[in-house]
Amino acid sequence: ASGYNLLRDPRHNKGLAFTEKERDAHYLRGLLPPTIVAQNLQVKKMLHNIRQYQVPLQKYMAMMDLQERNEKLFYKLLIDHVEELLPVVYTPTVGEACQKYGSIFRQPQGLYISLREKGRILEVLRNWPEKNIQVIVVTDGERILGLGDLGCQGMGIPVGKLSLYTALGGVRPSACLPVTIDVGTNNEELLNDEFYIGLRQKRATGQEYAELMDEFMTAVKQCYGEKLLIQFEDFANHNAFDLLAKYGPTHLVFNDDIQGTASVVLAGLISALKVVGGSLADHRFLFLGAGEAGTGIAELIALEISKQTNAPLEETRKKVWLVDSKGLIVSSRKDTLQHFKKPWAHEHKPIKKLIDAVKEIKPTVLIGTSGVGRTFTKEVVETMASINEQPIILSLSNPTSQSECTAEEAYKWSQGRAIFASGSPFDPVKFKGKMFVPGQANNAYIFPGFGLGLIMSGTIRVHDDMLLAASEALASQVSQEDFDKGLIYPPFTNIRKISAHIAASVAAKAYELGLATRLPQPKDLVKYAESCMYSPSYQNYR
Ligand code: NAP
Ligand code: MN
Repeated sequence: ASGYNLLRDPRHNKGLAFTEKERDAHYLRGLLPPTIVAQNLQVKKMLHNIRQYQVPLQKYMAMMDLQERNEKLFYKLLIDHVEELLPVVYTPTVGEACQKYGSIFRQPQGLYISLREKGRILEVLRNWPEKNIQVIVVTDGERILGLGDLGCQGMGIPVGKLSLYTALGGVRPSACLPVTIDVGTNNEELLNDEFYIGLRQKRATGQEYAELMDEFMTAVKQCYGEKLLIQFEDFANHNAFDLLAKYGPTHLVFNDDIQGTASVVLAGLISALKVVGGSLADHRFLFLGAGEAGTGIAELIALEISKQTNAPLEETRKKVWLVDSKGLIVSSRKDTLQHFKKPWAHEHKPIKKLIDAVKEIKPTVLIGTSGVGRTFTKEVVETMASINEQPIILSLSNPTSQSECTAEEAYKWSQGRAIFASGSPFDPVKFKGKMFVPGQANNAYIFPGFGLGLIMSGTIRVHDDMLLAASEALASQVSQEDFDKGLIYPPFTNIRKISAHIAASVAAKAYELGLATRLPQPKDLVKYAESCMYSPSYQNYR
């Protein structure tokens, strides 16, 4: 009987890779055809199968099936073919998966905590089979990617992010717990969808929301301890900043949309300056979009300049300007601004349109984080190119359709002078005989290594200096060869090595700040990070 169960246990199943000896020792005789296959051949076969599917969602479902059937093979495949499969298990395909999560739902891949579990969250946590949890990724589904409120179906996001924690950062899969908090949804379409899997009610807000979140935060710390990393993911900005501020002092919390984005974009800027020249303090930054991404990046830039120049944050923030849906954020608007925008309300006359802000502020760096596509028009890019020899232009809005401008437009309209990167991937562009390879400011560069750094050092609080350390570490992984192609980020093929470097830098900062509890501090943190990483290779069972 145990052989049969072994084949149905995704953590231990090896399928046709079970050896003769294992087949004898574990009652597998007759349950498998006689052929014994190496893991590499299994990878080859799965990749071949997945490539047969034309529809991205089918590729996604094939990957999820594999994860539920043979975990090591799933991770081996994902690690060995990360550039090809990242867009399948994560953006953009995971977005579509969330939209249709109700219809494609097969097996629970994480914990669902809804208003009905209020008062019993500790009990619910105990239903999860694993006890040694190191990372939770949690969403309330209110702002899934650029797709808005997907309620309970946001579960695809924590599941996908945690599979990247393992594949890219080497955190053990059994130590990862995806959680979706279901307080309802305001998405009418889902509320009327017969296959919707969540609570059929409008979102709870205010005290009711805060109480459920608080019970959750208290319960997970009680259950898994002080060193548990809790990553907030895809919360709407009216909750995201508050949750981070509220739990930052008591929990190891990290918001990828705010902090992870900031760190990955700052890394891109640090490496772009190696091409363009000057220090951060010599540059002027203009953002279109002043939400989680925009203000998060802005704050980290200001902090880094402040570290480099010893100037107070209040001063360095003045190098950064933001435009929201109402125009340039200026001091006359201060009273009506959400609190996370207030630090950016500088002295200036009101300006409505982006193009006028570009002409007035004369930024050297233009960053799009509004979620609205086609906003870096020909005129905007041409103006940037007339102000700067090499304008830095980042079109970060996702998915591809929402990108502020395409890579081709950025290069064409700037006469091939722009340093460009984007949120969604673009193909290389040939312009006037030269190949330009646009970089992707993908959060997956930072958070897996960042999390590994915290976990391996037993760190108990996140500090902004760790984000800066992560940015520097990522920027240092960009080679001259990358720069020559126009890239400001390294290729993803080396991501585990990159993650180890980020983890080491983050851990080093944590030790320096006295926030790491794993003592003594390992001598070589890069080696230590590598030694902590989960291996997807099969083990031999005796
Ligand atoms: P968010 O918190 O909702 O913020 C959106 C901001 O854009 C708000 O300040 C909003 O203005 C502003 N906005 C909306 N429409 C506008 C318009 N027509 N003109 C000017 N401003 C406008 O969203 P977020 O989390 O920051 O994400 C924003 C975008 O960044 C998304 O597309 C996301 O996919 C992308 N992103 C990319 C990366 C990456 O590349 N690694 C990482 C994170 C996010 P109001 O405040 O006035 O409403
Ligand atoms: Mn996110």
